[in-house]
Amino acid sequence: MAAMAAASGTYGLVIGGREEPGNRGETRGVLNPATNVPFAQVAVADADDARRAMEAADAAFRQSGWAADDGARRAKALLSLARLLEEREEAFARLETENMGKTLREARVDIGFVVRTLEYIAGLADKIQGETIPVPGSRFDYTVREPLGVTVHIAPWNYPLLLAMRSVAPALAAGNAVVLKPASLTPLTAIAIARLAHDAGIPDGILNVVNGPGGAIGEALVRDPRCRSVSFTGSSEVGLRIAEIAAGRLLPVTLELGGKSPVLVFPDADLDRATRGIALGIFGNAGQMCWAASRLAVHESVRDALFERLRKIAEATKLGPGTEDGVEMGPVVSRDQEARILEYIDAARQEGGKVVAGGGRASDPRLAAGNFVLPTVVADLPASSRAGREEIFGPVLSAVSFTDTDDAVRIANDTTYGLFASVWTRDLATALTVARRLEAGMVSVNEPPITFPQTPFGGFKQSGLGFEQGLHVVESYTRRKNVVVNLGAPKRRT
Ligand code: NDP
Repeated sequence: MAAMAAASGTYGLVIGGREEPGNRGETRGVLNPATNVPFAQVAVADADDARRAMEAADAAFRQSGWAADDGARRAKALLSLARLLEEREEAFARLETENMGKTLREARVDIGFVVRTLEYIAGLADKIQGETIPVPGSRFDYTVREPLGVTVHIAPWNYPLLLAMRSVAPALAAGNAVVLKPASLTPLTAIAIARLAHDAGIPDGILNVVNGPGGAIGEALVRDPRCRSVSFTGSSEVGLRIAEIAAGRLLPVTLELGGKSPVLVFPDADLDRATRGIALGIFGNAGQMCWAASRLAVHESVRDALFERLRKIAEATKLGPGTEDGVEMGPVVSRDQEARILEYIDAARQEGGKVVAGGGRASDPRLAAGNFVLPTVVADLPASSRAGREEIFGPVLSAVSFTDTDDAVRIANDTTYGLFASVWTRDLATALTVARRLEAGMVSVNEPPITFPQTPFGGFKQSGLGFEQGLHVVESYTRRKNVVVNLGAPKRRT
């Protein structure tokens, strides 16, 4: 690909296999959240660029042979992409850390997950098949699964490459042409992987990336007449808007939205393990996770013991730039996100919550230039409070106690969301009975939030529609066609 000067930290739009500055030549500085100093420049698309990306994808879909070819060719290309990414794993992880703020250790896990996703999905690319159906008379009936055409993928900033590629990979495996719009705050790794597409054997125009403001560029992509499906990961508010636009054209959508996920700790739980798991579930990625386990409900008999452990672990968490050795929690993604989290912490205090740990910005002067929020635990927030009900998307855990299993399940399900829930108990019957009663698309037992490329990821209620990952995900990026053939033969009696 004719790349813009990667080494100088300039990132373009990737349209039709070329990296280019964009129609108006506009660029934006990309900030490092640990310092708020720009470290790269990225091209910003306008509506004309969005239209050109859709045109390029449509042309490649029709002309490159990507869709018509044997799935084994697409499998090979996805495996090559996995290898190219794996060889550059450290560089991609550093780029993700510099751009998003997460620790290098977390970024390495993310990039490893993308490699594994590409490998897993590659294994499905030549297993997309239909069925034969017995029908009356002298007929032969079969179904085929076809790619949709141009699929649009809109990604958020919290796991920039991982959440983009978990829908892009199956769309490619199914033979579609992709237009990806990364979040404006974190577009770099999406552009960097598109630079590898040509060498991986993905035809030019099959993977396009346009960076630009969601309200203008994201909507332009969804409204484009060539768009055949939308995969959106982001806030429930924007997800609902996209669903409305898509409904007007009967476009299939996959929506991965927000959450306010419960963790239930029963009296027989291993409290040390539970504490580590709870901390990981809310302080990991500085709490910026759709499925952050942000609402703790603990049995009243172990409440004080657990709160004390959580206070200690929160206070011992080492904050700092994600690239620094030993750092356990990086900055949050932007000043705006920091302000939003701090506003929720203030609201929690005013709404009657008691701050057990944290409760504000980090006071260390070395961290003053970055967006560092302390790991925070707030106890006894009323169920009706804003901070207890709304998604904060930061390292803030709200904690209450429950009296019995019914009470625990009632608290867990008392939310408009339904993405994830976790249960900590040594009793198998409690674990499985409660798991069955929880209104969440994903449940973990004695584990913090955890997922694998082979397990479905999706939410109930306001947390989304459809799923990503897992054995059946490729089907979401195909359409089923039924073909009936009249054999014209006389009716057989035997
Ligand atoms: P947003 O919904 O604001 O943005 C997500 C993406 O949508 C960005 O690329 C954004 O572009 C784009 N966008 C914004 N407005 C529009 C629009 N009108 N039409 C089309 N696209 C648009 O979410 P955030 O990026 O702030 O991410 C945080 C949210 O994402 C949280 O609520 C979180 O729960 C959710 N999330 C859900 C996950 C899941 O799997 N369920 C995973 C990760 C996050 P731009 O950046 O330019 O604004």
